[in-house]
Amino acid sequence: MSTECESVTALFGKNVFNDVVMRERLPKNVYREFKKVISEGRFLDMTLANVVANAMKDWAIEKGATHFCHWFQPMTGLTAEKHDSFISPTPEGTTIMEFSGKELIQGEPDASSFPSGGLRATFEARGYTAWDYTSPVFIKETGKNITLFIPCAFCSYNAEALDKKTPLLRSMDALNKQAMRVLKILGNNTSKTVDATLGAEQEYFLVDKKWYDKRLDLMLTGRTLFGAPTPRGQELSDHYFGALHERIASYMHDVNFELWKLGVSAKTQHNEVSPAQYELAPVFGTVNVATDHNQLVMETLQKIALRHGLVCLLYEKPFRGVNGSGKHNNWSMVTDDGINLLEPGNTPHDNMVFLVMLCAVIKGVDRYAKLLRASVAAPGNDHRLGAHEAPPAIVSVFLGDQLTDIVEQLAAGGAKNSKANGQLKLGVSSLPQLPKDSTDRNRTSPFAFTGNKFEFRMVGSSQSTSGPMFVLNTIVAQSLMEIADELEKSDNVKAAAQKILTKIAKEHSRIIFNGDNYTEQWVKEAEKRGLPNIKSMVDSLKTLMEDENVKLFTTHKVLSKAELKARTEILLEAYSTTICIEGKTALNMAQRQILPVAIEYASVLGKSIERISDAGCNPETEKKILNKACGLITDLNNGIEELKKILAEVCDVDNTANKAEKCRDKVVTSINTVRKFADEIEMIVDAKMWPLPTYAEMLFVK
Ligand code: ADP
Ligand code: MG
Repeated sequence: MSTECESVTALFGKNVFNDVVMRERLPKNVYREFKKVISEGRFLDMTLANVVANAMKDWAIEKGATHFCHWFQPMTGLTAEKHDSFISPTPEGTTIMEFSGKELIQGEPDASSFPSGGLRATFEARGYTAWDYTSPVFIKETGKNITLFIPCAFCSYNAEALDKKTPLLRSMDALNKQAMRVLKILGNNTSKTVDATLGAEQEYFLVDKKWYDKRLDLMLTGRTLFGAPTPRGQELSDHYFGALHERIASYMHDVNFELWKLGVSAKTQHNEVSPAQYELAPVFGTVNVATDHNQLVMETLQKIALRHGLVCLLYEKPFRGVNGSGKHNNWSMVTDDGINLLEPGNTPHDNMVFLVMLCAVIKGVDRYAKLLRASVAAPGNDHRLGAHEAPPAIVSVFLGDQLTDIVEQLAAGGAKNSKANGQLKLGVSSLPQLPKDSTDRNRTSPFAFTGNKFEFRMVGSSQSTSGPMFVLNTIVAQSLMEIADELEKSDNVKAAAQKILTKIAKEHSRIIFNGDNYTEQWVKEAEKRGLPNIKSMVDSLKTLMEDENVKLFTTHKVLSKAELKARTEILLEAYSTTICIEGKTALNMAQRQILPVAIEYASVLGKSIERISDAGCNPETEKKILNKACGLITDLNNGIEELKKILAEVCDVDNTANKAEKCRDKVVTSINTVRKFADEIEMIVDAKMWPLPTYAEMLFVK
């Protein structure tokens, strides 16, 4: 037992060029200077970069690395890597191993095939990668290949962001700047910086590879496009937090060890609600590193699954009729000296900061609800948001009774009563003391306060956390900027703060909802409150270019108008492409697998009827079954023909106007029609003939 524990501590971060390694390997003055550059967010000069690069190379080579790569996150939402070896041939025909500062801090990959949304023409295909030294360099072992990975931002020749990381880093700067202004005015003279933090809970499914290999839909789209409901799904609630199956537990063990080596602090693991569904959550970190780590989590979950004969599905809704997967983004703000700005705390001073931060978030979420909604727009999330296990497409904030009470008191001009634990003197009003666990767990809320952080639950399981997080950082930065502007103008900060809090509480309390978000009443109530309810990805993306969003992103220098437009286009195109692939896959399977089996089954029935009749019996029942089968064959075939026509109209043309809408309205509907008949056929056809693994097999066979 103890050796196991010791080995974990030795293992953790083994493949990371972290602070300990740096201190060990860099000359003292270089180490100090480099740390200073990082803490001040300055540019790294070449002399320093050369020394750091050399130390990295030596460390990496000792660990067996032969290559390095700039690791970045293009707009595909995945990661990209192009490896270069360290070798540098000499005139004598030998080689030395080299790695320069320039190679460390900058790369110029040919980027013509990454989505740019028109920011970069193919003739200027070059993209630039720049080292993000705030996220540690690490070594990744893939099979026999060992490579030094350098986390990078990715941009065009004109420094326009072509990736997920750049706007996230910019939003962190914006949040830091505005939060620090507010903290200073409120009397904090010790903190120097504010960072956003993220703990991303990752849900996923595991299916046996032998089933996966037989399902073209899973292989090509990540979800099942067909499948009759299983007689038993999740209704017994026996999977959630259930005892881990041995095969799954071994898998999780290997995932953890692999992640720990990379310095990813995998912490919790458990069975989720749906059969075959699981969750992993790391310990939170700064939002930038946590986002990089979540990419590693997703990659590792998939990589290790194959070693266990499993396939990990990250798609938001792989199976109809059971829960889909999300990625709960736990978010807060922390100062460099360790103050969590969303910690309610016990002292009046902390509470004042807390209240301002809380109100800044409430205001931001209410004002930019559509933007938050758009940040979680993903094709898979269209099946999830609003379905019965996931938060609805309506953004609202859960605060719990205590905080809601406080916000109500603030709206009324200031709190008059306080709870038994004594008065908190904010200097503006007295407030009830908040017990540590003041928030109940409302699992239906899309944006819930959970003790000392907010949990944004709408994020899709396959999404990069960057989008939702840079939106959240920026909208809160905007609220804080407005608050700071007001406070800096006033000569009575406390009175001014009270006025601001009251105003926010009055104007934005419509976003607070503590009830069950899954009910029809809430949908109606939200409409009355004027809260947007944007159900589809396409409609949601259409709101991105609204003036106030452009203004928000340009004010805080997170995205220029051109960058925002490019992103909108990339996402719309990604939607169309995804749906067209689903359509073509459905067509392929319906036509080549399901229809032939249905016909074969009908012909078996036909033969049986003849034989039964020859034997002198009345094959009336068999005829009824045959009739039903023949009817479904006709329906399915009509569905197939219709789908074919629609795919040719919508998908096979390069750029039809409103392609994304057509995909949603025509292709998706047509896929659903084909599925309806195919699933009915599955329910009547001889199980021995059925060519696809069933829902029951995929969800229950361990
Ligand atoms: P639950 O499933 O009950 O919501 P989990 O333990 O699965 O809780 O996940 C909670 C996540 O929130 C963890 O990743 C945790 O590290 C993270 N977290 C805790 N405190 C903070 C914070 N201040 N900022 C961001 N994330 C946090
Ligand atoms: Mg959890």
